[in-house]
Amino acid sequence: MRIVLASGNAHKVAELQGMAAAAGLGVEFASAKAFGGMPPVVEDTGTFEGNARKKARALWEKLGGREWVLADDSGICVDALNGGPAVESAYFAGPQGDPAANLQKLIAVMQEVPEGRRGARFVCVLLLVSPSGEEALFSGDCGGRLALAPRGGKGFGYDPLLIPDGFDQTFAELGDDVKNRISHRAGAFAQFTQWIRPHLAR
Ligand code: IMP
Repeated sequence: MRIVLASGNAHKVAELQGMAAAAGLGVEFASAKAFGGMPPVVEDTGTFEGNARKKARALWEKLGGREWVLADDSGICVDALNGGPAVESAYFAGPQGDPAANLQKLIAVMQEVPEGRRGARFVCVLLLVSPSGEEALFSGDCGGRLALAPRGGKGFGYDPLLIPDGFDQTFAELGDDVKNRISHRAGAFAQFTQWIRPHLAR
């Protein structure tokens, strides 16, 4: 079975492809790039689910409703910021959506927040659309705390700041082997694999 990923984010695509390979799923994850790229989508619904649906439906329609499509909407929710930036994570530092600027802004706004009040979690929603238009929704989250300064060179986005529960290193230090087992995306992906297996057997 082929599923086209409704994302322009090469890191998300690589993580999902890596998890599919590790799970031994007979699913080929193709990138939207291989189909001419993602159509423009304004992520304005205010929820991870709504934004994931917009991305999935935009690509599904562009492909004429002939493909399975999976969208990922995700972000970071910080306790000291009342759960923000959440769905605004990609645009935290402004509409240009610059990941490096977003990370720098989070470092700056958290600078005075002491250890013990630096709780945060990553959230991921995956929305699948079948060729017939049926939808299925999967979600995962990964709790942890924010490091006082960015550490590590792996991963992407806010990975250099998030230390997942049970670890002393950031996701950017831990790397994909650990991240793809315990992350928010791994949690949502585990639900997805449960759902898709019976469809593969058909
Ligand atoms: P989206 O592409 O609209 O879902 O935006 C996701 C935002 O959350 C971007 O700023 C990403 O950098 C960030 N984000 C999502 N997942 C991760 C992750 O696994 N690690 C680090 N940052 C992430």
